[in-house]
Amino acid sequence: MPQEMGTHRSAAAMTEQVALKSLLADNTMDSAPELAWTEPDGSIRCVACGHRCKVFEGKTGVCRVRFNEGGRLRVPSGYVAGLQIDPIEKKPFYHVHPGADALSFGMLGCDYHCGYCQNWVTSQALRDNQAVSLPRFCDADDLVRLAESHGVPVIVSTYNEPLITADWAMRVFQPARQRGLLCGFISNGNATPEVLEYIRPCVDLYKVDLKGFDDRNYRRLGGTLQNVLDTIRRLKEMAFWVEIVTLVVPGFNDSDEELTRIAEFIAGVSPDIPWHVTAFHPDYKMTDPGRTPAETLTHAHAIGRSAGLRFVYAGNMPGGVGDCEHTHCPQCQAVLIRRTGFTVREDRMRDGCCPDCGTSIPGVWGNGGRVSSRWRVPRAVDLG
Ligand code: SF4
Repeated sequence: MPQEMGTHRSAAAMTEQVALKSLLADNTMDSAPELAWTEPDGSIRCVACGHRCKVFEGKTGVCRVRFNEGGRLRVPSGYVAGLQIDPIEKKPFYHVHPGADALSFGMLGCDYHCGYCQNWVTSQALRDNQAVSLPRFCDADDLVRLAESHGVPVIVSTYNEPLITADWAMRVFQPARQRGLLCGFISNGNATPEVLEYIRPCVDLYKVDLKGFDDRNYRRLGGTLQNVLDTIRRLKEMAFWVEIVTLVVPGFNDSDEELTRIAEFIAGVSPDIPWHVTAFHPDYKMTDPGRTPAETLTHAHAIGRSAGLRFVYAGNMPGGVGDCEHTHCPQCQAVLIRRTGFTVREDRMRDGCCPDCGTSIPGVWGNGGRVSSRWRVPRAVDLG
């Protein structure tokens, strides 16, 4: 691109970003009191995520979406920046209503800045001029009505980090829960005890990205390893249904040692936590490593099983990882749920148990599986 054109684009992008910030600043509400404490010096301590920012008058926190205005912490409200119906397997939850759909909404911003983020257009919208994603304004009830009108049993906060927009998620989840919907967070796990207590009355499902086991790498992404490990332990203690994903990036976190440490940690918390090892593809700023080979995923799968995990899944490579996409009975090894990518081909579960040997399989199973002969893909939905 000629320099002059690049300069114009850059100036235009900066103007768009200023306009976006102003637009978002108008769509806020006061933080939930559980997540904002007034400090003796008049600043506000935000405890919505593990950064625990001390936010001074006129300033934002690390996430850039929560800010101190006149001694009140203002937080995002009343919009979505991503909205669609996804197969629940895309979240991924493999032990929750197999074959079901999940209404998936996201806002803007993140407390991390991962160079390989696959949702960077929404997560980095307030940090990167190239990330352009426009909000659509709505009420919390609009989303619940949408889920009901499409017969969707699950609603999840995803696409950006839900912890930093937990107050709005709870506005959606409170009526959703009353209507019998299951609610979930798709999160990096950089939580606090306070925010988990705050969401627990409505949130049952929690997916954590455990991005590796190297604290130096975690700090490059914007977090700390220990806080994510603490969150995973706490989630289990608080009886959330937890599934964990590790995006396996060649040269970043794919050594046997690192994968073994991850698997042993999860097994130490509970061998019943499903661990998803998923394939990386070059994205955003991380374009050097190639795609994760299928052999790396099947090897990671074997490491997980050797560490004692009873449910390990290789993902993002439909049909390319043998039987590593399926759910097996850990007792008799029978295939219980057969998948290709997001599509459930066969569901043999009976009342949450193996039909062959009767072993109880941990999960949130609902009223039986929904098998599909068609390729399941995300669907756009309209707020009307
Ligand atoms: S959500 Fe996290 S990053 Fe944002 S202000 Fe609160 S503590 Fe800071």
